[in-house]
Amino acid sequence: MSEERIFDEVRLWLADNWREDTYAGDDGRLRWRRMVHEAGYAVPGWPSGEGGLGLDTETAKQVERAFKQAGAPGSGQDRTNIAANTVRQYGTPTLKAALLDDLVTGAAVTCLLYSEPGAGSDLAAVRTRARRDGDQYHVAGQKVWTSRAMEADYGLLLARTDWEVPKHAGLSFLIIPMKQPGIDIRPIHQINGESHFNEVFLDNALVPADHLLSDEGDGWRVINTALAYERLIMAEGAAERRASGKDGHADLIALARRHDRLADPCIRRDIAQAIAWRRLNKWNAARAKRIAAAGGVSPLMSLGKLAMSRILHNDARVMRAIIGSSALCDGPEQADAQDANFRTLHAYMNSIGGGTDQIQRNIIAEKILGLPREIEIDRTIPFKDSLALAPRRS
Ligand SMILES: Cc1cc2nc3c(=O)[nH]c(=O)nc-3n(C[C@H](O)[C@H](O)[C@H](O)COP(=O)(O)OP(=O)(O)OC[C@H]3O[C@@H](n4cnc5c(N)ncnc54)[C@H](O)[C@@H]3O)c2cc1C
Repeated sequence: MSEERIFDEVRLWLADNWREDTYAGDDGRLRWRRMVHEAGYAVPGWPSGEGGLGLDTETAKQVERAFKQAGAPGSGQDRTNIAANTVRQYGTPTLKAALLDDLVTGAAVTCLLYSEPGAGSDLAAVRTRARRDGDQYHVAGQKVWTSRAMEADYGLLLARTDWEVPKHAGLSFLIIPMKQPGIDIRPIHQINGESHFNEVFLDNALVPADHLLSDEGDGWRVINTALAYERLIMAEGAAERRASGKDGHADLIALARRHDRLADPCIRRDIAQAIAWRRLNKWNAARAKRIAAAGGVSPLMSLGKLAMSRILHNDARVMRAIIGSSALCDGPEQADAQDANFRTLHAYMNSIGGGTDQIQRNIIAEKILGLPREIEIDRTIPFKDSLALAPRRS
């Protein structure tokens, strides 16, 4: 199908079906997302037997363009839904039949159970243990910084199933049901007043054996696919736009106009630079998306994520420059200052979540620039022996 034809077809479908008030409330949202999925527009790039339309990247993009133009949500899950894409790629047929539709429509909410107190940047060092007994895994350990754990129905869990092999080879990736007695979730309170993430304690939590993605011991490969989707989303700034409901550079112009700073040459230069960085990053993200659509995992995703981190910090800096000394104020009666201050703190989310800026630089250095690998003395020894090298932090 041609790009113009699919665009027109989707536009007509939206004109017949999309009304903002039908999207109100949890029920309305779910009903709408189910309709989008049934029409094949939620995952247009997936094969038709799996809920998609089998469209190539460029044609699938037209579906998203039509949705964006109408202000309708629900499309583009084939790029932005970490859980659905990872389960589709590595899940057993039973798991896919049971879960995939709910993941695409958002009927099932997920969280990412990766980081631990002693395993963040060095993610392959996770110590949460999963032991198979018959048709179940028994899981014990602690995760931290888990976004949305409270609402989640399922967690994407990275756990250690083998302690006798080097750290990357002993990991497995499981989809764990979150609402069960073996899981205790405690919220963490943040500097910006939000409580976005949690500590998760797993004490004999159970996972059905067919919730294993790929094979036991192949968890490192699976998580790299899941991380690539996460980095692509962060590179696009989708999370930021969702949170603010605004587009960054348009904000800067409007802000400068409101504060009568649009004629200031330094402010104009800073805004122009901010727009240029965003434009450039959009093109890089488009290249990365094309590689992802062809089933690849590209270091370009690290480049895009690092660039977005720089963009968000820079946007917050320019906002403060525009506002001037009143940026020191805060509170609802100082809406612009409050927004600038929130963005200043919130920018760190992109610099840390999904792998820090420094880790993205390591990936770019090794995988794009071809520099020598970072020294890792525990890379080739059995994981159990590495515990003596790096005592657990208390
Ligand atoms: C908003 C947000 C949401 C998050 N959501 C989740 C989630 O849902 N699930 C989840 O599992 N985790 C989540 N995280 C956790 C995140 O993935 C980790 O914080 C991140 O990977 C860094 O790990 P760490 O905090 O243990 O820092 P550490 O790994 O201890 O790093 C500390 C510092 O040392 C630097 N550093 C470490 N190793 C190297 C190295 N080899 N080379 C150069 N510098 C290095 C780091 O860059 C960092 O500056 C989230 C984090 C944020 C901020």
